[in-house]
Amino acid sequence: MYSITHSNMRQVIVGIESTAHTLSFGLVDMDGEPHNSYSSLFRPDEGGIHPREAADHHSDIASKLLRRMLSEENLHPNQIKGIAFSQGPGLGPCLRVGATVARALAANWNIPLIGVNHCVAHIEIGRNQTGCEDPVLLYVSGGNTQVIARAGDRYQVLGETLDIGIGNMLDKFARSQGIPFPGGPKIEILANEWLVKNPEADLEDIPLPYSVQGMDLNFSGILNAAQQRISEGHEIGAVCWSLQEHAFAACVEVAERALAHTGKNELLLGGGVACNERIRDMSTKMCIQRGDIASWPEKRFCIDNGTMIAELGRRMLNVGISTDMSLSSVDPSLRTDHTIVTWE
Ligand code: AMP
Ligand code: MG
Repeated sequence: MYSITHSNMRQVIVGIESTAHTLSFGLVDMDGEPHNSYSSLFRPDEGGIHPREAADHHSDIASKLLRRMLSEENLHPNQIKGIAFSQGPGLGPCLRVGATVARALAANWNIPLIGVNHCVAHIEIGRNQTGCEDPVLLYVSGGNTQVIARAGDRYQVLGETLDIGIGNMLDKFARSQGIPFPGGPKIEILANEWLVKNPEADLEDIPLPYSVQGMDLNFSGILNAAQQRISEGHEIGAVCWSLQEHAFAACVEVAERALAHTGKNELLLGGGVACNERIRDMSTKMCIQRGDIASWPEKRFCIDNGTMIAELGRRMLNVGISTDMSLSSVDPSLRTDHTIVTWE
């Protein structure tokens, strides 16, 4: 009689992402083949994201999302070989929801629990997807903006925002113009539409500050200045265009210096803002000039997603790393360079 044996049964690692606005379950096969994420984005009725409200959204939706993943992937719990979760950095109340669900599942199914660094997960899903080996990562997301590269046994932060994340800045500007969260995609559309109508546009007509400080960046000043340009009567499309040009050029400049400084020749984009065609285009142009290569994962793996958490969990488990329950508390201010990298 035919019976399902261990060797022909699909085995996976599940990942849970809950650092901020998104709760997401995702999975990878044991050989690193990534699969869909099952995600729900918290969208506040008004104002910014309140951590407690986002956490309530995550706990309300968690069991439904998990059941959806199991049924759509046709997965039985005995096929799940590990549960990875974002241990940090992020919003404490949101992180705790993901960690609690992960601990419960690991205990219930008697499988390893793997606490992972969210920023490092963006790098590993990017390496998985693009095949690049030793990249400089330009990580541009809602809450984070960092330029990261491997040095020794860590991913070191070579430059980063000193105030808010670039996505946060775009979302705040959008909100001040009545555009709901997430504002970044709509800003991209408005900028493109405006540029089509104004192909001769000159950035000097819509001046904004250029926010590079050494290898670091800041985005509060450019946000205030963009709002100022609107109150001076500039069209929203024009301001969106100038905002993208200035903010993205600043990020790409820091990334370029990181490539020059480290001698690496691959630039990887990650984070939700890496969905933007203009920052991709600027990165490609900069890399072509240097003889380097720019790449990025599919959009569903740029934004926060459970699959990238599963992929880093898989790599860690492969080299024998798992997280004891007693060490599984979340760390909202976990640094990228805190995590020792022992996997390939
Ligand atoms: P993450 O925090 O990585 O999940 O990414 C979410 C952030 O990405 C939000 O700030 C969005 O506004 C931003 N975002 C998503 N798509 C785009 C886009 N096409 N252009 C600019 N920003 C974007
Ligand atoms: Mg992220």
